[in-house]
Amino acid sequence: MKIKTKLNLGVGLLFVLIIILALTAAFYVFQIKKDTENILKANYNSLEYSRNMLLAIDEILPEQTQSTQIFESSLKNQTANVTEPGENNFTMSLQKNFNLLKKDPNNEHVKSAVRRDIFEIMKLNMAAIKQKNEVARKTAEAANFYIAITGTLCFLIAFNLLVNLPNNIANPIKELTASIQQIANKNYSERVRFTNHNEFGDLAKSFNTMAEKLQEYNNSNLYKLLFEKQRLETLINNMHDPIIGLDNEGTILFVNDEALRIIGLKSEDIIGKSASTLALTNDLLKSLIINDLESGKPHPMKIYADNKESYFEKETVNITITPIGEDRTIDIGNVIILRNITLFKELDFAKTNFIATISHELKTPIASIKLSLQLLEKPATGMVNEEQQLLIESIKDDSQRLLKITGELLELSQLETGNIQLNIEKSNPYEIVNYAMEAVKAQAEQKHAELVIHTESNLPNVKADTEKTAWVLINFLTNAIRYSSENSKITVHLKREAQQIIFQVTDTGKGIDKHYQSKIFDKYFQVPGSHKSGTGLGLAISKEFIEAQSGTIGVESALGLGSTFYFRLGIV
Ligand code: ADP
Repeated sequence: MKIKTKLNLGVGLLFVLIIILALTAAFYVFQIKKDTENILKANYNSLEYSRNMLLAIDEILPEQTQSTQIFESSLKNQTANVTEPGENNFTMSLQKNFNLLKKDPNNEHVKSAVRRDIFEIMKLNMAAIKQKNEVARKTAEAANFYIAITGTLCFLIAFNLLVNLPNNIANPIKELTASIQQIANKNYSERVRFTNHNEFGDLAKSFNTMAEKLQEYNNSNLYKLLFEKQRLETLINNMHDPIIGLDNEGTILFVNDEALRIIGLKSEDIIGKSASTLALTNDLLKSLIINDLESGKPHPMKIYADNKESYFEKETVNITITPIGEDRTIDIGNVIILRNITLFKELDFAKTNFIATISHELKTPIASIKLSLQLLEKPATGMVNEEQQLLIESIKDDSQRLLKITGELLELSQLETGNIQLNIEKSNPYEIVNYAMEAVKAQAEQKHAELVIHTESNLPNVKADTEKTAWVLINFLTNAIRYSSENSKITVHLKREAQQIIFQVTDTGKGIDKHYQSKIFDKYFQVPGSHKSGTGLGLAISKEFIEAQSGTIGVESALGLGSTFYFRLGIV
């Protein structure tokens, strides 16, 4: 039943009962009033008339006296007030006897008959009063009874409403509030249980439908998320590169099969554990985590797994997210990716070996070409004309360049294979400078370049491999001559700065754009637009040589004004 109907019925019933109670009370009050009025009018008056007649009876005379008048008027009133059965007979007998008495006032026999009639009337009325009193008493009792019953019914209904109605309304609201709180706490399986066929029943039905839809939506989202998670996990697992995911506390969140293979641990031994704790017993993990802090270019790592050596390049990707509705980004961890570069390494080795073999093999024929050229220039071999001499000069230049290139390639291949042997000893910086100057003298003369030396005196020896250091200085000087115009000036500075000696070559050539200054020490790099006769290896090899001797190398240059190449080596 609807709450509204229930309320209407309850209050309506109460209202009806109150009306019934009021009507019953009014009815009985009226009834009692009628009874008492009846007694008063019908019987009490008759008694009064009778009394008047008794008082007047002894004064009755044939002439019209006051008593006779009173008697007559009382008799007349009594005749008009006959109410009881039998009363009429006695009243008529009284009338007859009174008439007789009036004629014969001293007739005692008639007088007593009159008296007897009056007494009979009085008796009848007295009996009627008694009986009517009894009726009125019963009416009052009935009134009590019915009013009590109606009152009790009213009380019971009102009490029932008082007890049940607030609970009927408040209990579902309470249950609904608790359920709404559960839904707010993401407990979408919550349902309300009241199924009455009233407004709350409808509300419960709507609420349960809403909760069901929310649950369905939540489950579908959860399913989607789980599906996507599985997809990502499968993707990561199927990648050939080892991948390790860490949260920002360093706890390992995921590791793919490739990573497990090289680390040599099982997934259950590693997932959810602290990487730094595991690193205490696992060297590879240690190197992966510790190296993390090192910035700059990734270093190739040699890892022995599955009975073979593999090379990996580590990349650490910092994962940050911007939470929905916020501007700031938060750091949620790192992903360490090890790129398997074994194949490239193998190809690189093959290339280096090839270069080493070729450059080594080329050295002998080039040397023999140079020797043949020297023989050709000798008069004993025969005179050459001017044109032939020019050709010889050109072949000489080319073979010199070839020698330089093969020399650089050989040095590089030795560096790459780690076969370079440094002979670091106490070396005299002046000797290194003089040796290099001597080596490029012919080249400088060819270009009419002026070579100037500025050296501080009494410089101490340096810790260096004389041959390699001179090689670097020669490379600086050759470049200075090559990248400067004719008749230019090239200055070599040798000076001390704290515990280091600086070797410096300054030219007034074309200079190097500042965008390329950091790149010219990379292998095979040549500034775009510069002539391609070189290999782009000289400075890269120079850097390797100097850094292998714990020195530093660098350049300062301004485009169009010239360059200063320098390296520093520690003193003994
Ligand atoms: P390359 O054999 O090409 O000279 P290097 O490694 O010696 O190789 O030099 C790399 C590049 O740096 C050169 O190609 C050239 O563009 C630039 N370079 C080197 N030295 C100088 C210099 N003194 N002046 C201008 N450019 C230079």
